[in-house]
Parts: sequence; structure tokens; C-alpha cells
Amino acid sequence: MASISLKTFVGLRQSSSDTYNSGHVFPVKHLPAQPASRGLRIVAGKFSPKVTGRNLRVAVVGGGPAGGSAAETLAKGGIETFLIERKLDNCKPCGGAIPLCMVGEFDLPLDIIDRRVTKMKMISPSNVAVDIGQTLKPHEYIGMVRREVLDSYLRERASASGATVINGLFLKMDAPKGATAPYVLHYTGYDSKTGGVGERRTLEVDAVIGADGANSRVAKFIGAGDYDYAIAFQERIKIPDDKMVYYENLAEMYVGDDVSPDFYGWVFPKCDHVAVGTGTVTHKSDIKKFQLATRLRAKEKILGGKIIRVEAHPIPEHPRPRRLAGRVALVGDAAGYVTKCSGEGIYFAAKSGRMCAEAIVEGSENGKRMVDEGDLRKYLEKWDKTYWPTYKVLDVLQKVFYRSNPAREAFVEMCADEYVQKMTFDSYLYKKVVPGNPLEDLKLAVNTIGSLVRANALRREMDKMSV
Ligand SMILES: Cc1cc2nc3c(=O)[nH]c(=O)nc-3n(C[C@H](O)[C@H](O)[C@H](O)COP(=O)(O)OP(=O)(O)OC[C@H]3O[C@@H](n4cnc5c(N)ncnc54)[C@H](O)[C@@H]3O)c2cc1C
Repeated sequence: MASISLKTFVGLRQSSSDTYNSGHVFPVKHLPAQPASRGLRIVAGKFSPKVTGRNLRVAVVGGGPAGGSAAETLAKGGIETFLIERKLDNCKPCGGAIPLCMVGEFDLPLDIIDRRVTKMKMISPSNVAVDIGQTLKPHEYIGMVRREVLDSYLRERASASGATVINGLFLKMDAPKGATAPYVLHYTGYDSKTGGVGERRTLEVDAVIGADGANSRVAKFIGAGDYDYAIAFQERIKIPDDKMVYYENLAEMYVGDDVSPDFYGWVFPKCDHVAVGTGTVTHKSDIKKFQLATRLRAKEKILGGKIIRVEAHPIPEHPRPRRLAGRVALVGDAAGYVTKCSGEGIYFAAKSGRMCAEAIVEGSENGKRMVDEGDLRKYLEKWDKTYWPTYKVLDVLQKVFYRSNPAREAFVEMCADEYVQKMTFDSYLYKKVVPGNPLEDLKLAVNTIGSLVRANALRREMDKMSV
């Protein structure tokens, strides 16, 4: 896997607009022309003006994993931080699978993790099940969380670090009227004073982090452009206790045209229920049909289950054309940081939120100086450098293995290989494209080609049969 050659990364390329050094950002049609040379990039930090009588003010819009971790890092770094979240008990529709490295890197307490999955079944279109996870070390696992628990924990930690958490719906913002003038955010505030009705309010800040998810309004206001997206559907199903025993520390992934033409179906265990779901980019209107098929595939194991929650949400397929403009940056789903193939975005949301906040803390010298686009761009540069290979490898895997049922059979067959399991788990759990063992890589390449040749032969036979 690691030996796949990585030449271009269309998803994370910088668009021409991503390279502006514009001081101010909207309306979009007023953006200055692209500078001829990247050498003109503004270098901020110690040359930028000092903020007097107060510290730098930053608003984080959206209190999911991206927003919570951004706000915590900002507050700890001496920034006057405002975290605006529209719904403080939000249950983000999500499978809630997190890699082991997130638990350590974000210092998550174990009691917010519902289950520690150490066994994963990958189930092919013809229902061949391959057990993966044998290569895991005793302390390794995939964490399963409920998002309402994780998100509120991260927000509370941000608040304890000094961030002001505002229960409000962000509506729009006004562009600053000068290089160091404030952005004015408009939002509807909900608190004990306003009850459920809410009250229109404004907030002046020096910079904004857009962490407001896939339908980001901040992205819209900076003219960030659109992305392709998958629609993902999930049902939380409470199953009888004796059935839950099977899912104690086990998750399932189903592949096949029936469950999704371009993604996978899943059964993930939670505290007292399982989350059953699927997604698709190409056949969105059929999502309920795919969901039914996923449920049918798991039928025996979830028999007697009761659906306690139905949820659906878009999943971005690639980064937006622009992720930064002036003193506004996008993170998490708002930026489009979900990996293809696995549909994973929680870790990348939290990580990008933190990375963006660190760039602001550093550029402002702990809130003492004004920041500019050059400071925020450092986050983008670091992000692209760190995660470009991970995104690309998963992009390639999806293209090769999710394209037909025979290819999926080959994929599941390949997952039986211990070396593949080790590489896949190491890459997933620790978020690094693990350098391989050359001999094992060669064996894997030969086996993969063998599987694909068999898959193609099978497809030809199936095509003949259907003539
Ligand atoms: C069905 C499904 C299953 C998934 N399963 C997994 C999985 O198992 N593992 C994984 O890693 N990823 C999974 N993902 C992806 C993951 O959910 C996202 O990548 C992740 O939630 C992104 O976090 P975020 O903080 O960027 O955005 P979000 O989690 O979407 O948070 C955005 C926050 O902003 C708030 N907000 C939005 N607009 C406004 C506004 N105008 N004003 C104020 N607040 C606002 C929202 O209420 C929300 O709290 C799944 C996604 C779906 C849809």
C-alpha cells in the first residue's frame, strides 16, 4: 500500500484563490487578482501590529470536534475565544469510530468511549466474512463514541480552558473595513434570557475559524466553493442483550452493490445499541434502499432490534476549492477533510481545528499581535504536508476496490492477509501511511494483482451469463 506512487493530489491542491494574500474576503467578486509570484506572500507574526488593551479575539463557529478542539487550543494559547454552537445537545449523525491515536493525542478519558473494538469483520458481496484485527496488540483498539458525548466533552473542556461558549446560530458576517479592522458576526443567541425564541446579536472579532460542518455558512461567506458529497444514513438500533454480546467488541463492514455502489455499510457497537448505516455519492436517491439492504445483511444478528433514532447527513468527498481567505479559515468538514474509502472525519476535524488554532496562537504571539492570512496559511501548509499521502492512498483504494462486486470480493480476500491487516490498522490507528516491508509489499502486489485478475475473470463470466 505504501508503495503506491503518489504524484498528484487533486483534492488538496491549492486553487488559485487559495493562494491569495487578500486582506479581506467578501464579497467574493471584490477579491484582488492573484499575485504573480508566491514570493509575495505576507509574512506576519513579529511584523504585524500589536493588539493593545486586550488580547486577539477569535470566533470559532461550530462546536463539533473541529470547533471544540480549536477553541480549547486558542483559549489555552492566550486568545480571547468565542465558540458559537447552535445546539448544545447536538447528536451529530455519525458512526463514531475514532482511531486509537485520537484518545492519546486529545487526552480523551476512557469513560466517554462506549466500546473498544478489537475485532472487525469485513463482509463481501457474497457474504464471505473475513476477520480482521488479529494483528492488534493487546492495548490497541478502535474507539466507539456517541457524538453527543464526545462533542459536549470537548466543548466543556474548551470552556474550562477559558473559551466563552455561546449557544447561538451563526447567520452571517460583515467583512472588515481595513487590514486590522474586526469581522462582525451576526447570530441568534439562545440563553436563559431569550428562551427558545432567540435574539439577534453581533460579535466583533479579529479572526474566524469556520468549524460549522458540511453545510458551513462560514464557507459560503468566504466563497469557498462546493465539494462533491456523499449522503450517509444511519439508524441506532437497540438490540436484545443476548444479541449485544456478539457486538461487545466487534464491528462489521459490509461491501456490495446492494449496500452501496461506492461506499460500505456498517454495524458499529455503542453503549446499549448498535449503529447501522451506509452512504453513497453516486446514487443518493436510493439511500433508503441501501440502508434496508444493510439491515437485511445483518438481519440475524440484530433480530428483535428496535430503531431508536434515524439520522442522515452529508459527508464531504474532498476539500473545498478554497479553505482560507483573509483572517478566516475553515477546518473539519467545513473544509472537507473526510477520507474517501473509510468516510472518516472525526480525528481529522479535531486535528485540523487544533492545527489552525496553533497557527493563530503562534502568529499572534499568544494573542498579543494581529494575525493575517500568512499566519493562517501556515496551518494549511502543515496540513497538506502531513495528510496528503493518507488522503491519496484512500482515494486510490476506493477507486480500485469499490467499483464492482468482483473487485469487492477481491478486496475482502485481500483483507485476510495478515500483512494487509497490519498495514491497514497501523495506518488507521496511528494516522500515518506506514512504510512497508519491501518483500511483503511485493508479495502483496502480486496477491492483489492475482485477486484483481480473478475478480475481472469473474466479472467477465458474470457478464456472459447476463447476455
Ligand atoms: C452517518 C455518518 C457516519 C459517520 N461515521 C464516522 C465515523 O464512524 N468515524 C469518523 O471519523 N467519521 C465519521 N463520519 C464523519 C464525521 O461525522 C465528520 O467528519 C465530523 O463530524 C466532522 O466534525 P466537524 O467538527 O468538522 O463538523 P460537525 O461534527 O458537523 O460539527 C459542526 C458543528 O457546527 C454546528 N453548526 C453548524 N452550523 C452552525 C451555525 N450556523 N451556527 C452555529 N453552529 C453551527 C453544528 O451544530 C455542529 O455541532 C460520519 C458521518 C456521517 C454523516
